[in-house]
Amino acid sequence: MSAPTVTHGVFAMTDNPPVWQLPADLVPTDGRFGSGPSKVRTGALEALAATGTTLMGTSHRKPTVKNMVASIQDGLLALFDAPDGYEVLISNGGATAFWDAAAFGLISEQSHHLVCGEFSSKFAAAAKNAPQLKDPVITETAPGQPVTHVTPDAGCDVYAFAQNETSTGVQIPVRRPEGFDGLVVVDAVSAAGGMPVDLKDCDAYYFSPQKCFGGDGGLFVAVISPAAADRIATIKASSRFMPTFLDLATALDNSRKNQTYNTPALATLFLLDQQIRWMNDGGGLAWAAGRSAALSEHLYNWADAHPLADPFVSDIASRSQTVATIDFHEGIDAETLASILRSNGILDTEPYRKLGRNQLRISCFPDIELTDMHKLTACIDAVLDYLD
Ligand SMILES: *Cc1c(COP(=O)(O)O)cnc(C)c1O
Repeated sequence: MSAPTVTHGVFAMTDNPPVWQLPADLVPTDGRFGSGPSKVRTGALEALAATGTTLMGTSHRKPTVKNMVASIQDGLLALFDAPDGYEVLISNGGATAFWDAAAFGLISEQSHHLVCGEFSSKFAAAAKNAPQLKDPVITETAPGQPVTHVTPDAGCDVYAFAQNETSTGVQIPVRRPEGFDGLVVVDAVSAAGGMPVDLKDCDAYYFSPQKCFGGDGGLFVAVISPAAADRIATIKASSRFMPTFLDLATALDNSRKNQTYNTPALATLFLLDQQIRWMNDGGGLAWAAGRSAALSEHLYNWADAHPLADPFVSDIASRSQTVATIDFHEGIDAETLASILRSNGILDTEPYRKLGRNQLRISCFPDIELTDMHKLTACIDAVLDYLD
């Protein structure tokens, strides 16, 4: 048994193993603050366990699973209040696979990308690496700086940006550039479900389930407009080489039958369906996005008021409401801070590794409880008192 041997402020030092232990009543009830994989509601996990022998291990071509896929599709169209004709495409491989699929099946000749961090740069790189496409036009903004929309270059038939750049915590409003008749393709991986959107402003709104949708990885979901479906069909009818796994026409064909081309992870589908139901039952997108807004507002207000912390994104309108990045002053080592939090069960607050800043990155996805966010900042206060 480890007994407290030393105390420092609110901490108790346990020996064997030596851990600075925060008092139990200060620690969040659920310590998962990662930006993906992210918190999965225990209620959803219990519902999954309760399916017993009826779901896991059964065919994805039979009604139990196909009805679940239909429920996901209908639930998303309702959640986003999608305009007539929009449909939900589901396939395997996560958003990363969608980038390559889009390079084959959604971009006709050339794309224009707003790049402001790691994820937005990856889609641009996928387009650049595709031999069938002209080099993309890239408009780059430094990490953490506000991103402004541009008029896509003449000749570009896809305009791509991330509604939330998860690596830096910068958000960009979803807009259709005036006069642009190409497709607006939005990386909404860490925004969908936690930020407002009007889908008529874009043609493909894609995401993976392991962020705001509190599910697990492995799938991509894209809500697409009739114009995007037409584009997919037109490119498919051309002579372009198309790897079957990345073929959006095949994916759409299967999605229309409430299936995926190859075997999906059933638990991932189940958890996604649970979270969509939870959001729709709770009050829809405005309700879910409102939860994210309240969580991030608390964090940014806390950081603004703290003498040792600042929001990384200085432009208030560009501060993400789903992924908050908080810088710490010199003299506070954020890595030590994150590791003390981790040893107290508060997980995955480390910054995006390649950004290389002295910061914490904290998810404000809708299923995190505001009371837990208040506890998190109280815990950080306690650790900062000790480190300072
Ligand atoms: C997590 C993330 C991705 C990658 O999603 P995968 O499912 O891992 O492929 C892409 N874009 C953004 C903005 C993300 O946050």
